[in-house]
Amino acid sequence: MLRLMHVHAHPDDESSKGAASTVKYVREGVDVHVVTCTGGERGSILNPKMERPDVLENITEIRRAEMDAAREILGVRQDWLGYVDSGWPEGDPKPPLPEGCFGLVDPEVAAEPLVRLIRELRPHVVTTYDENGGYPHPDHIMCHKISMVAFEAAGDPERYPEAGEPWQPLKLYYQHGFNRPRFVAIHEAMEAAGLESPFAERLQEWKVDPEHDARITTRVPCGEYFEVRDRALIAHATQIDPDGFFFKAPIEIQQRVWPTEEFELVTSHVETTLPEDDLFAGIRGRDDLD
Ligand SMILES: [Zn+2]
Repeated sequence: MLRLMHVHAHPDDESSKGAASTVKYVREGVDVHVVTCTGGERGSILNPKMERPDVLENITEIRRAEMDAAREILGVRQDWLGYVDSGWPEGDPKPPLPEGCFGLVDPEVAAEPLVRLIRELRPHVVTTYDENGGYPHPDHIMCHKISMVAFEAAGDPERYPEAGEPWQPLKLYYQHGFNRPRFVAIHEAMEAAGLESPFAERLQEWKVDPEHDARITTRVPCGEYFEVRDRALIAHATQIDPDGFFFKAPIEIQQRVWPTEEFELVTSHVETTLPEDDLFAGIRGRDDLD
């Protein structure tokens, strides 16, 4: 059985990043495990319908329940690392991060529970964010840092000797689903269809970065699961406005012009040929797999 582990910063990231390929792999019979570093307790409420005092008072429990619902929809297993959300620092200059939050941990220390999970669950493939966190939230950057430490260390018996039997995952990827060319393609297709594109303003502010786009190595076809991806995202009701720009692009257009999700292969202990269309390229079909 093939095993895939996604490491994410907050509940909702598993549904907004790479979720359609997650569903594709789940339906194929791959064991997909989501690791969520923080409880998301400092996430701003981004859905006007949920901005109520009773929601704010119980945000930790509510975000757990939202994650339960998303997990069911995606068909994944999931573990919490138990770190505390750093929140998005707002202001100029930015205020210091709150004491005890995930963004301030020592990555070498904070990677320990992740090493433990990798050794216990023995994924063949691990995904995380790039060095900029995908976007520069302190929790996303720390998620990157502990993932890098854990991917390297999990197979090394000298490191974290108390954290279980060594296990070396075979491939490490960064999530690249939020790439500009994808939004351009959907934007242009919507305009061509006479629809008002929700991305016009965003694209104006989003600077062209061909170097970053060129880092994509792997495009996983998963258009038929976009509908499931959207349902999982909507399950995070405090974080996502179902009437927001995210859901304004018709699924048929997305399926036609951009039916894939993108990843960057960072480390591989197996042979593979780039570009790829499968996170398990070079692993699938091997008869020596544990
Ligand atoms: Zn996040």
